[in-house]
Amino acid sequence: MLLFMPTIVFSEEDCVRNHANELALMGTKAMIVTGKHSSRANGSLNDVEEALKSQNVSYVIFDDIEENPSVETVVKACDMGIKEKVDFIIGIGGGSPLDASKAIALLIANPDKDETVLYENIPLGYIPLACVPTTCGTGSEVTPYSILTLHKQRTKRSISHKIYPQVALIDGKYLKTADRSCIVNTAVDALAHLIESYLNTNSNELNRIYSREGLMMWGQLKDKLIEDKITKADYTKLMHVSMVAGMAITHTGTSLPHGLSYMITYEMGVPHGKAVGMYLGGYVSIYKDSKEACEVLSLLGFESQEAFSDYLDKILGDTEVSKEILEKNAESILSNESKLKNYPFSITKEEILSMKK
Ligand code: NAP
Ligand code: ZN
Repeated sequence: MLLFMPTIVFSEEDCVRNHANELALMGTKAMIVTGKHSSRANGSLNDVEEALKSQNVSYVIFDDIEENPSVETVVKACDMGIKEKVDFIIGIGGGSPLDASKAIALLIANPDKDETVLYENIPLGYIPLACVPTTCGTGSEVTPYSILTLHKQRTKRSISHKIYPQVALIDGKYLKTADRSCIVNTAVDALAHLIESYLNTNSNELNRIYSREGLMMWGQLKDKLIEDKITKADYTKLMHVSMVAGMAITHTGTSLPHGLSYMITYEMGVPHGKAVGMYLGGYVSIYKDSKEACEVLSLLGFESQEAFSDYLDKILGDTEVSKEILEKNAESILSNESKLKNYPFSITKEEILSMKK
């Protein structure tokens, strides 16, 4: 059993300003990597700019990361970073800008290589990266994963390299601008990380420290989430669950619901958390170690598998998926070795199809 969680985490109100010195220690010129709008609206971009100014660290901003970032966008940002001679990165936003930052940090450190190295299994370094999350789902601020869209393959895939952020600066106040669907979808993503980590080939008593803690905390938030009664005081808890869930999958990886979500997001534009959530109730119900599946439900405070699936249906709403996509998706996951190996049992196409009602 092994625990390896190298990211330095600061989690508190006004975290970015309070730890401006941590950013200054990372290099001499930063590239801020963020999305098009939200980091301006929620104040996170301003906080990072002020922190860098207070330490006399120069910076440039790349604010063109789209949802489900593509390899093409990563290359554009990398070109800017090399031209501007930046020596560290600060990713701000949801999982999309944070994931993109990791791939950009790798490409900038290896200017003689092109983007094909993202999907090659060779050891490569990366420039230091700090992450400031503004959604409560991916935990990307502590995970080593970077999932990019591959338009040529019409899907999304995790890059081959593990890139750990050096520092994570977590502040729940950035959630104040997030609407209900953003909070719900990303909180369900965190829930999926917890469940797919607990019910996983690589889970053990040591790494379940994270998933157990996260599942109990998620259980305490579940009524507020469905009744739309999340208050400012809950933002910190949501961010905490997301981070702990990230630490859980750092050790185990995700499993079938994540693998099945990518085609749904690519072909139908369904947000990541919602696409994963569609398969989550089904995953718990087909999981062949029913004792472990019951442990998950009990940590969350659900009385039965049906109650859990009903909850997910209610909170996420219904999404019609064509029979053709469901079939294609089931066939494709059966050849996705990296996800199949995290599911400890054999599985048939019929069982996969039964996961989505
Ligand atoms: P996202 O794609 O980063 O952002 C979704 C939307 O929310 C964007 O329109 C964004 O606006 C907006 N937004 C972000 N923060 C906001 C805030 N505080 N208030 C209002 N709006 C806000 O969403 P995400 O669910 O966090 O990330 C999904 C991505 O992460 C997927 O690509 C998924 O594959 C990946 N992922 C990674 C990991 C990992 O371990 N690395 C794990 C799970 C998922 P802007 O575009 O203007 O910023
Ligand atoms: Zn996820």
